[in-house]
Amino acid sequence: MIGLFGGTFDPVHYGHLRPALEIYSALKLDEMRFIPAAQPPHRQTPQASASQRRDMLELALADQPGFVLDDRELRRAGPSYMIDTLISLRADLGPARPMCLVLGLDAFAGLESWHRWQELLDLAHIVIAQRPALDQGLAETQIELSEKLQGLLSEHLTEQPDQLEAQPSGSLYRLTVTQLAISASMIRTACEKGKSCRYLLPEAVYQYIQRTGLYQSPE
Ligand code: ATP
Repeated sequence: MIGLFGGTFDPVHYGHLRPALEIYSALKLDEMRFIPAAQPPHRQTPQASASQRRDMLELALADQPGFVLDDRELRRAGPSYMIDTLISLRADLGPARPMCLVLGLDAFAGLESWHRWQELLDLAHIVIAQRPALDQGLAETQIELSEKLQGLLSEHLTEQPDQLEAQPSGSLYRLTVTQLAISASMIRTACEKGKSCRYLLPEAVYQYIQRTGLYQSPE
């Protein structure tokens, strides 16, 4: 079974890598593929170039068996729609191999804005990575799901990870993962202000940013 972790990775950081590792272990995946988007449809053009984001991912993934960089979206022209990526992965992996698209609960809540979203489950399972309720005493940010998405959940939700192995696609599964309060934008902002982003991301990626001057505003 293959996990698919899409993102801008501008840059990759521990907030991506730790949840990815937990999902990789919990679902006993053969591979977790990191798929950097060329032109994310829902957001601004990344600050780092495609090749810089690829370089940083390569450095970040090098030491972890099973973590694989898949740069097909960078090699494709036009917006990086997940549906096209899944179609292309299906063509490579064949019809029977289970694929699990990993989405944060917030990304899942916005699924209806994705191009041809209703077809995603025909091609892959969706694993919803959710934050542990660490702060139960505090007011938690509630993520509201639309009626359509609640319907999708009740129709496709499985509590059994074995179910994911048994079918190539079609199930929704929720998994609690450690979410670190790290975002790529906070790293870019720190660099722009001349502050250090060390220990928020792998040392090799930190060194790369230092060496290339990436994200640092020009003098
Ligand atoms: P930015 O700050 O530029 O918006 P980001 O840090 O959210 O970027 P992306 O590359 O856009 O990074 O994220 C890719 C995926 O990783 C998304 O599905 C997002 O939900 C998830 N993700 C990002 N940061 C974290 C985090 N700290 N904990 C858990 N998941 C995260």
